[in-house]
Amino acid sequence: MFDKKSYTLYKFHKQLNQAFQNKRELLESALPVLRNLFKLDRIYFFDWQQERAILSLRMMCKKEYCMDKQEDISVISEPAFLKQLLREGITETTDLSYPAIYVLVKWQRPSMELKGGEVRTYMQEKVGVLRLERFKKTRGFTPQERELIKALGQEISHNLRNTEIDQAKNQRLNVSTALNALSTVFASSLRLNDGLELILQGVQKYFRFDRVRLYLTDSYARRIKEALCVDISGQVTHQTADQISPQEQGLLKEVFDSAVTYRSTRSVIYIPLKVQRSKVGFLAFDNVLSRRHIGYLDFISLQQFASQMALSIDNARLFERVQELSNYDELTHLPVRRYFNEKFAEEIYRAKRFDLTLSLMIIDIDFFKQINDSYGHQIGDWALQEVSRIIRTSLRQTDVPCRFGGDEMVIMLPSTNSEEAKIIARRLKERINAITLPTKYTGGEEIHISISQGIASFPSDAGSAEELLEKADQALYVVKKNGRGVFAVYREVADQVQGYSKE
Ligand code: GH3
Ligand code: MG
Repeated sequence: MFDKKSYTLYKFHKQLNQAFQNKRELLESALPVLRNLFKLDRIYFFDWQQERAILSLRMMCKKEYCMDKQEDISVISEPAFLKQLLREGITETTDLSYPAIYVLVKWQRPSMELKGGEVRTYMQEKVGVLRLERFKKTRGFTPQERELIKALGQEISHNLRNTEIDQAKNQRLNVSTALNALSTVFASSLRLNDGLELILQGVQKYFRFDRVRLYLTDSYARRIKEALCVDISGQVTHQTADQISPQEQGLLKEVFDSAVTYRSTRSVIYIPLKVQRSKVGFLAFDNVLSRRHIGYLDFISLQQFASQMALSIDNARLFERVQELSNYDELTHLPVRRYFNEKFAEEIYRAKRFDLTLSLMIIDIDFFKQINDSYGHQIGDWALQEVSRIIRTSLRQTDVPCRFGGDEMVIMLPSTNSEEAKIIARRLKERINAITLPTKYTGGEEIHISISQGIASFPSDAGSAEELLEKADQALYVVKKNGRGVFAVYREVADQVQGYSKE
C-alpha cells in the first residue's frame, strides 16, 4: 500500500542527502522544500538560546526566496508555549490571526574550549525552532500534516548534525593545513626573520586580520628587542628596540601576567609565546580597523599556532647561537679563520668599491714552543688566552681579529693605513710585553711574552686579499729573521724580502 507519509519523508531525505558547506546552506535548501510541500506562505528558522531565553532569527523563506536574518527575540514571557514545544517537539500558536506551527530541531555540534591551557573538544547541544505559517485563517494544519512536519523536523535535525560535523572537520583541516604549510617555512628557511615574515603574512592572509604583530624579547626576556608587523595589505615592517614605544614595552608584562581568555566582543587578542618558562615574545592579532570580532575557532587555532611558533623561534635562536659559537675559537674566543675570510673578502670588496684603505696585521708569539716545553701546555694555553684577551680588548668595533692557527693571529683593520696600523701594532706590543707568566710556574723568574708583527696595507702594498696576506706574512718573516719582538710594514722591509720563501 502506498504510504504518503513515508514517501514524502523519503523524498525529503533524498533532497537533503548531500554535503552542505554549513548550516546556512542546508537551511537554504530545506526551507523551500518544506514551503512547497505544505504550501506555506512563510517559514522561519530560529536558533534557540535557552539559557539566555532568546530566539535568534536566522533565516526567513517566503515565496521564491530565502533571506538571512539577524534578530534576537526575547522569549521570557512565553514559557508555557516553549515548554510544550520542548516536551512535544511541535506546538501550534493560538495568539495569531492565522495558522502557524512551531517545530523543534535539536542537534549536536562539535565544539572546542580551552581548559587550563589545553584544548578540549566536546559535542555541544544545539536547539533550533522552525515556524511554519499559512496566512489564510481557514487553512489550518491537519493532524497528519502536523505529524509529518514533526518527522521532517527530525530529519532536518539529523542533517544539521552531519553538516556541522563536516564543517568542523573541514575547518580544522583547513586551519591545520594552513598552519602546517606555514610551519614548513621554518624548516626551509634557515634565517629566522625571513621565515617569520612569510609565516606572519600567511596568518594575516589566511585569517584575514587587519594586522598581525610579533614582538620578540631580548636574550634575557626582559625587553622587546624587535617587532615585525604585517598590515592589511600584507606589507611587513620591522621595528628595532628603539622604535618600540613604551606602551608596547609595557604590553610584555601585561600579556604574560594575564591569562589569555576568549571574549567574543574583542577585536584584538594577545597571545604570549613561551617555551617552558622562557618568554620568547608575544603575538598580537587585531581587527581594530574593520571592527570584526575574532571567532572562537580562530582563537583556539591561534593558541595552537602560537605554541608551535614559540618552539620554532626558540629552536631557530638556538641554531643561530650555535652558528655564532662556531664562528669563534674555543680557547681564545677569537673568530676562526673561516669567519675571518668571509669578512676579509667583504671588506676588500668595500675598500676597492669605495677607495678605502685597509691594513692587515699578522701576529706570531715569539718562541712559543719554548713556553710549552718549559712550563707545560697549560701555561702555553694560558699565554695564548692572555694575548688574545689583549687583542680583543685593544681594537675598534670594526676591526676583525682571528686566530689563524697555532700561535698566529691575524687582524684586519678596515679604513686604516699603514701609519695608523703601526700605532695599533705598538699598542699591542706594549700591552702584550707587559704580560708575565705566573712566577709559581717559572721558578720565581719573571718571564715576559713577546710578539712579532707583520703589516701590509691595501692598496699601497697589495691589490687583493691573497696578496695582502702574503705581504703581511713576508713582513713578519723579516721581523722573525732579524731577531723578533718588533713589527714591520711590508713596504719598509720589501728589500729584505728578496728571495723570500716561507721556512
Ligand atoms: P717563533 O718565534 O719562530 O714563532 O717560534 P715558536 O716557538 O713560536 O714557533 P712556532 O710559531 O712555529 O710554534 C708554534 C707552537 O705553538 C707550536 C705548537 O706546539 C704551539 N701551539 C699551537 N697551538 C697551541 C695551543 O692551542 N696551545 C698551546 N699550548 N700550544 C700551541
Ligand atoms: Mg711563534
